[in-house]
Amino acid sequence: MAGTTAETTAAIIDGKAFAAGLRARIATQVAELKAAQGITPGLAVVLVGEDPASAVYVRNKGIQTREVGMSSFEHKLPAETPEADLLALIDRLNADPAVHGILVQLPLPGHMDATKVINAIAPAKDADGFHILNVGLLGTGQKAMVPCTPLGCLMMLRDHLGSLAGLNAVVVGRSNIVGKPMAQLLLNESCTVTVAHSRTRDLPDVCRGADILVAAVGRPGMIKGDWVKPGATVIDVGINRIEVDGKARLVGDVDYAAAARVAGAITPVPGGVGPMTIACLLANTLTACCRANGLPDPEGLTP
Ligand code: NDP
Repeated sequence: MAGTTAETTAAIIDGKAFAAGLRARIATQVAELKAAQGITPGLAVVLVGEDPASAVYVRNKGIQTREVGMSSFEHKLPAETPEADLLALIDRLNADPAVHGILVQLPLPGHMDATKVINAIAPAKDADGFHILNVGLLGTGQKAMVPCTPLGCLMMLRDHLGSLAGLNAVVVGRSNIVGKPMAQLLLNESCTVTVAHSRTRDLPDVCRGADILVAAVGRPGMIKGDWVKPGATVIDVGINRIEVDGKARLVGDVDYAAAARVAGAITPVPGGVGPMTIACLLANTLTACCRANGLPDPEGLTP
């Protein structure tokens, strides 16, 4: 899943192609499940409010869910919906046997407590892996629902590097949705893990020690080329919208052009981690469906 261009020495880890391959494998597994067991995996996505970026994500999730042969249930609630009504909807989805995965699109309107809402989802249906029980299961190396973005990063790292054991991994960013679960997954792979954040001293030097460098910060081009160890594998989770010459562009947290001259392999933005996130949401829904029906975990979709 890698190539090079004239300007770069790094192999480019093509997340778009990887995600397409992953979705094709999921579609095959879904078809087999339907044929053998008469079961159709179902994903419910809940959107509260009118945030345009969230509406686009939800639409794309619905399209891709149907494309792999799963049922997609979309619930759109007005921004002023009382929290109690959202919790009541989650209760109904928890009890619905046609729903195997539930995702509540974040961010939620200010009057809602996102932690309370996420923890109302049945842990076995927690397709995003944000429920406190799943966080604990992942942290103790047990079977969990794993957050989609870090799961996608891990799949690409394994595909590119094989065993990760013993490698020095630096994760820049410590959010609950990306940085912390990414660090935990890498620790579970027997990497030696450093988690860096806004209070880290001498971040460039910390990054230079990384065989695997994961950037999940939200600051365009913050990681410079000379922060990258020669030959390192760089995973750029950042999605930042900037304007260049009056045109909107998406860039990552890594100075891609400079880092690609030093790294051994790198994910581009767009076309790297982004496409893997929805593919892993589908993977998690299929995993949840198999577990709900007492079947073994699907091949190659879990850590
Ligand atoms: P958060 O804002 O929740 O976390 C950002 C982290 O970066 C924090 O831990 C923060 O440290 C750290 N940070 C901020 N500034 C610095 C700095 N100057 N030096 C070192 N660390 C710093 O962001 P998310 O984790 O939600 O997202 C990170 C990026 O990933 C964003 O660009 C987001 O859009 C993207 N993203 C992409 C996804 C995908 O599908 N590809 C999915 C999810 C996110 P501290 O804790 O000390 O404040």
